[in-house]
Amino acid sequence: MFKKILVLMIFFLMSRAEAGTWSPELRVGLMSDVKQVTLEVSAPCVMINAAKGNVVKKIPAGEKFIVAFNELKFNAIEIRPEKISLNDLRTTIDGKEYYGGVTANKEKNSLTIINLVPIEEYLRGVVSKEMSPSYPLEALKAQTVAARSFALKNRGRHVKDGYDVCASTHCQVYIGVAKFDSVDKAVDETRGEVLVYKEKLIDTNFHADSGGMTEDVGDVWGTATPYLVAVREIVQLTAQPWTVKVTAKDFSSRFGENFGDVKEIKLSKLTVGKPANDRTSSGRVKSAQLVGTKKTVTITGNDLRRKFSLPSTLFDMSFDGNEIIFTGFGRGHGVGMSQVGARDYAGSGWSYEKILAHYYNGSKLKKLY
Ligand SMILES: [Zn+2]
Repeated sequence: MFKKILVLMIFFLMSRAEAGTWSPELRVGLMSDVKQVTLEVSAPCVMINAAKGNVVKKIPAGEKFIVAFNELKFNAIEIRPEKISLNDLRTTIDGKEYYGGVTANKEKNSLTIINLVPIEEYLRGVVSKEMSPSYPLEALKAQTVAARSFALKNRGRHVKDGYDVCASTHCQVYIGVAKFDSVDKAVDETRGEVLVYKEKLIDTNFHADSGGMTEDVGDVWGTATPYLVAVREIVQLTAQPWTVKVTAKDFSSRFGENFGDVKEIKLSKLTVGKPANDRTSSGRVKSAQLVGTKKTVTITGNDLRRKFSLPSTLFDMSFDGNEIIFTGFGRGHGVGMSQVGARDYAGSGWSYEKILAHYYNGSKLKKLY
């Protein structure tokens, strides 16, 4: 239902849009529980009472002004440009520059500050942070399409907080105005493009490094999805294996007094891409048996990863009597696109379309606007 409304909204807004520069407007939550903010706009703006839509004040360009909880007469105000389009406005909020305008919502005792930003501008401040701007252009383009799809699919995720998406890792990290020519080019060259599966926007999960094979989403979060299946990497990846060592004493202590001292670890040997009873189709650890002097416990790979801050669940475990040694590959949950993989494929001449088709099985690229 929500998706239908979203699509209708997009077409409704498109009909009013200036051709070529319009993109859906996103409300990005920046701050909550603040008493006041200092703002400065790059072009003449108006302050609007959001409930009625009427202009309550004109704001000149380049002058600092304060919006304070104690002095605000309305439940919500919006600051929008008077003459230029929202794309071209920049608003400085407590010294940090953002694309677009701003909304201040009055809560019980404080303000919530929200950035009103066209999605194409928002993406510049997301991709710069989520992937190194020095990566090849085709990798940045793949990341941009993934980030755009995520934002549109998750628009309204924070509706109860008064905005669409937050600016942290919970949604996507957004840093406001970022000045990287490579990222600007990636955004402009993929303008309006998203990934769909059977005409629906997809979940575009990504991670740092697959370590040789990505993971089936069902093996990480429990629900299988046809476009998030394990895929083997085709090019030789440049990532090195990682090692984490834990003393037997520290290791045992993490499993409580009832466990005793670790005696033996039962886990089949890792071959990337080879499943086993205790490993998923990519070879990631499903579970391991830890034999202690007092009892034996079975623990999932995800729990081991969390407990010992391991980079991934694609690992081997060994015990030499003194130390537990984890040796593994990759970084992150392994679901969807690998950023290191995207970089290496782009470096070997793949287009962003080909990279996305590799990681999001059966998905299609669609230009929404
Ligand atoms: Zn969020």
